Amino acid sequence: MNEQTFKDTLTTPLTDEKIDRALWHIRHKNSRFRICTLAYSICGRRIPYVMWGEGQHLLLYVAVHHAMEWLTGNLLLAFLEELSEDTKETSRLYQQFRFVVIPCLNPDGVSLVLEGANPGHVLYQRQVRMNEGSTDFSHWQANARGVDLNHNYSVGFHEYRALQIEKGIYGGAPTLYAGTYPESEPETSALCGLVRMLRPSLILTLHTQGEEIFYDAPNATPSRHKMAEALASLSKYQTGKAEGTAAYGGLTEWAVRCGIPSFTIECGKGENPLPASCGEAIYEQVRQVFFCAPQLSLL
Ligand SMILES: [Zn+2]
Repeated sequence: MNEQTFKDTLTTPLTDEKIDRALWHIRHKNSRFRICTLAYSICGRRIPYVMWGEGQHLLLYVAVHHAMEWLTGNLLLAFLEELSEDTKETSRLYQQFRFVVIPCLNPDGVSLVLEGANPGHVLYQRQVRMNEGSTDFSHWQANARGVDLNHNYSVGFHEYRALQIEKGIYGGAPTLYAGTYPESEPETSALCGLVRMLRPSLILTLHTQGEEIFYDAPNATPSRHKMAEALASLSKYQTGKAEGTAAYGGLTEWAVRCGIPSFTIECGKGENPLPASCGEAIYEQVRQVFFCAPQLSLL
C-alpha cells in the first residue's frame, strides 16, 4: 500500500471528488469491489456504497450521518483501502463475509461544512435562515434542508419530536431537527430500504466524538453485551447506551428494533468538528473494530 496515499486518505477533507477517486482507485486495484449507488441527496449528489465479499454474513458500515463528523468517512475509506490489499486476512474476510460500506451518507451536509452554502443554489436563502443568518456552516450537522438524519428513523421518532419542541426546534436547523416524518429524507429512506432488502447481520454506525460504543444496553442479550465489551477492549473505548436526545430516532435504535445487532461508534475525543489531523490516530483506535467485528458478530 502506498503510505502517502493512505495518510492523505485519513488527513484530508472528505470531498465528493476524494470519495470518487478513492473508490475508483480501490476498484481499479481489486476488481472484486462493486461500487453501487444508494441514492441521490437532496442536492443531487450521488451517495455511493461499496460491496465486497462473497460470504453469507452481511455487515453494514455507515459513516457521516452528521455533516461536521465527516472525518468518519475518511476512516471507512482507509478501511476499504486496506481491504483492497491482497493478504491472508482480507482473503479470509472475503470468503466468510460480505461488507456493505457507505463512506458518506450526508454529502450535502459535508459540502456545507467544508465549502459553505452556494449563493447560486435554490436552497441558499433557506439554509442561511436555518443557520440563524450566518454563512459560517462549520458546525452544521443536518442535510441540505436542515434535517438531522440520525433523528429521522422511526424508532422513538414521536417521543423525540416532543423533546425537540421543548428545545424550541420547530423546523429545519443545523442540528437536532427530526424532519416531518420518519424516513422523510432520500438519504435515510434509501438506507432503510437497503437494510430491509439485505437484512445485515451487523450494523456499525460511525460518529464523532467521545471514544464510546453505544448499543442497546441494558436490554441487550448476553452475547450482545459480550460483543460490545470485545469491541471496547479492541478500541479502548467505553461501552454504554446513548442518552438524552441521542437516544431517539437514530439508525442504531431502529436497526436494533428490526432485530439487527447494531453499534454506534463515537470515534475520537475532543470538540466537534475534530480536525482532519486526528484521522491517523483515530484510525489506529478503531481499525481492529472494523476488522474483528464480523467475527465477533458470529459468537
Ligand atoms: Zn453524530
